Amino acid sequence: MRLRVDPVKCQGYAICTEVAARHFSLDDWGFAQALVVDVAEADVEAVTEAITDCPVRAIRWIPGPGEDDGRGTQEPAG
Ligand code: SF4
Repeated sequence: MRLRVDPVKCQGYAICTEVAARHFSLDDWGFAQALVVDVAEADVEAVTEAITDCPVRAIRWIPGPGEDDGRGTQEPAG
């Protein structure tokens, strides 16, 4: 799985950098950025805690290459 920080939603509370410091840092303006986009299985718990604890829900999992996003596949029309 991969993670993504929504730069519009992030308000710079910095909880993610405390909970999962290896995966997040704050940029020069105080907003979070993901340091490690592809999350190893061993780090999923810490990143999930950061996602859960973010007050504005600015962090989310996104599917990695070849992973199902849970929405199923759509056949092209035609
Ligand atoms: S906890 Fe959420 S709002 Fe706070 S810095 Fe991290 S992503 Fe941004």
